[in-house]
Amino acid sequence: MIDHSALIAGTPKRLLIDGAFVEAASGKTFATLNPNTGGVLAQIALGDAADVDRAVAAARAALEGEWSRFKPAERQAALLRLADLVEQNFEELALLDTLEMGRPITAARAMRDIVVRAIRHFAGLATAIHGQTLSNSAAVSLLSYTVREPIGVVGAIIPWNGPLFSAAWKIAPALAAGCTVVLKPAEDASLSPLRFGQLCLEAGVPKGVVNVVTGMGATGAALSEHPGVDKITFTGSGETGQRIIAASAGTVKRVTMELGGKSPNIIFADADLARAIPAAAIGVFNNSGQVCAAGTRLFVQRAVYDEVVEGVAKFAQQLRVGASLDAETQVGPLVSARQYARVQSFLDRAPDEGARLVTGGARMVDGALATGHFVAPTVYADVQDDMALARDEIFGPVASVMPFNTEEEVIARANASRFGLAGGVWTRDITRAIGTANRIKAGTIWVNHYFAMDPSVPFGGYKMSGFGREGGFEHVESYLNTKSVWIRMD
Ligand code: NAD
Repeated sequence: MIDHSALIAGTPKRLLIDGAFVEAASGKTFATLNPNTGGVLAQIALGDAADVDRAVAAARAALEGEWSRFKPAERQAALLRLADLVEQNFEELALLDTLEMGRPITAARAMRDIVVRAIRHFAGLATAIHGQTLSNSAAVSLLSYTVREPIGVVGAIIPWNGPLFSAAWKIAPALAAGCTVVLKPAEDASLSPLRFGQLCLEAGVPKGVVNVVTGMGATGAALSEHPGVDKITFTGSGETGQRIIAASAGTVKRVTMELGGKSPNIIFADADLARAIPAAAIGVFNNSGQVCAAGTRLFVQRAVYDEVVEGVAKFAQQLRVGASLDAETQVGPLVSARQYARVQSFLDRAPDEGARLVTGGARMVDGALATGHFVAPTVYADVQDDMALARDEIFGPVASVMPFNTEEEVIARANASRFGLAGGVWTRDITRAIGTANRIKAGTIWVNHYFAMDPSVPFGGYKMSGFGREGGFEHVESYLNTKSVWIRMD
């Protein structure tokens, strides 16, 4: 049994720069809060532009120094040691996310497989990086081939909804590619990324290769415009993504954008409803709805509409909402008062828009839940495409259910969104399944399933859900430059 106060006390809370945990240059800190109670969990170093400067300098020195001499197999070995350490320490890492951003402990523990497997997967790819020998039709005899080189210093800016996962998911492939990293965690979830940085050192990753600068949006902005950063990889909201693209334009940085979504999940009348209904509900309520790929626009064909609305509502009512540390809890608190206010603003507007509230729609105020940011799993039916409930990313436990009649109609409506992150299709008709999957404009489609992710499979957005792919070899390639070499042979 881990003592939570001792765990927090023993977790690094200062900036990781050049292999050491150091105070912010300003000496300032900020409070990180427990979303279950609103109480202060810890004081975290408030990094600013001066700290970003120091971290980028350390990352540059490591890139050109010791790390550049690590052979691919040595980078691989370091990442495999890191995976082992993350696995061995997973209970602590899971607890840090549970305490700081409210992911229910059982769900946090269940992240172990994907996090550890991702690090091992990208470790494997460190020795698979390769160029090509290419034909050419030059007038003289020339050999042409490509080599892949690390892109350089990477600024990785991550959100709070999966802090450990996001840190591992960005850092492991960057290290596999031979890059160095300055990680900027979200201000609501700094602890597991800091501990992850510490484990990188323990795994034998040289100092300066992984740096962690905690702080606010301004810290991320300083990283985005820093001339010493070669690439920004960002996961977060579209608004912030747009600011980062603008800030990184000044130095023409490479950017990867993993942004928000409002994903359609389409249930046709011939679907296996016994599977579709629970999966559709979990696809919205998992992590209290704080999931970029949540299937929050639930389109249901008219013949089974009432049955699905009722089934999803019943599922929502049976979910156990509670403290994130309780092993029975299925839906924990929202991450922060700010996020709570955002979700509440959608709930407040819904009656005026004319959506029909089927269940939920309110803050949970029972006993121990009164002080935290708990929102009841909520289902609105008869939602119209032009309502905020159908257009905007709520990032809370709110399902918007909409009836449809025909395949043509639902595909058009599913695509009438500025987002294109993911989508689901439920049908027993293979032609319809493939046809719909092909025609939905989104980076990931699940058929007769909702939500699966794997380090071997690319993930990313169409349209305003972003660009670039994480997962798969493309992810490692996103941290590589291609150099073409020509050699006169005669
Ligand atoms: P956010 O955009 O508010 O913050 C994300 C990160 O950006 C934080 O670290 C924040 O400090 C930093 N930041 C804020 N302003 C900045 C600026 N001007 N310059 C640089 N960095 C800045 O997002 P959030 O509220 O933390 O996360 C929720 C959003 O993330 C949702 O929209 C969600 O859909 C999205 N998300 C997307 C994916 C995906 O893979 N597509 C995954 C998870 C979350």
